[in-house]
Amino acid sequence: LENEIGRLDRLNIVGEMAASIGHEIRNPLTTVRGYLQMFGMKDKYAEHKEQFSTMIEELDRANLIITEFLSLAKNKVVDFQRANLNEIITTLLPLLQAEALHRGNLELKIELGEIPDLELDKKEMRQLLMNLVRNAEEALLSNGTIVIRTGLDEGKVFLSVQDSGHGISKDILDKLGTPFLTTKDNGTGLGLPVCYRIAERHKAKIKVKTGVNGTTFFVEFNNPATRE
Ligand code: ADP
Ligand code: MG
Repeated sequence: LENEIGRLDRLNIVGEMAASIGHEIRNPLTTVRGYLQMFGMKDKYAEHKEQFSTMIEELDRANLIITEFLSLAKNKVVDFQRANLNEIITTLLPLLQAEALHRGNLELKIELGEIPDLELDKKEMRQLLMNLVRNAEEALLSNGTIVIRTGLDEGKVFLSVQDSGHGISKDILDKLGTPFLTTKDNGTGLGLPVCYRIAERHKAKIKVKTGVNGTTFFVEFNNPATRE
């Protein structure tokens, strides 16, 4: 429990910073990106084409970090509505499958159970799912299986993402959810903190099972039918 409190405190501090500076940085980046794209297309810069695309890629990466950072903000405006997780997953599936194919020989399966509607921010749910599936893909390297499941377990509605990847080592597991924690060369270390924040806003809990055969992330929601 103490660990849990420490983690949320850290999230709060980062979240407050995110809200105040994120927007101020994003706008100028958009302007610079626009000009780079425009100049990069001019014939007289033809021999610098590669540098122009590097600059744009770097800006996109900065933008991604800011976007993730912004979703850490505690007071972010959310749009809760009655929705079904299965529907959100099914809608996102083609995109997830395209991404999985693009990465290699990854199999992405779904096993959706019968679950009640929940009060959800659909955009945030898509982001949560996307972040978990991306991590699963990155743990698989070039081949393996990912299974997205939903169902009811001990009165809770759950969403899980299972991969047959390399698992999470003990030292990383203990710190999971800490902003900027990453073991990847190109990682931002913000994917999971964003997931934890989204779960928190939905009064959901994230649990992790990991081992040499892979990792499963469970997101557990209160079942509206069993709430007193
Ligand atoms: P990033 O993906 O940018 O590194 P995340 O916050 O999404 O940041 O994840 C933090 C770290 O947690 C990852 O760098 C990785 O070490 C570990 N991790 C997360 N999900 C998985 C997974 N499914 N399998 C193995 N390791 C994982
Ligand atoms: Mg990630």
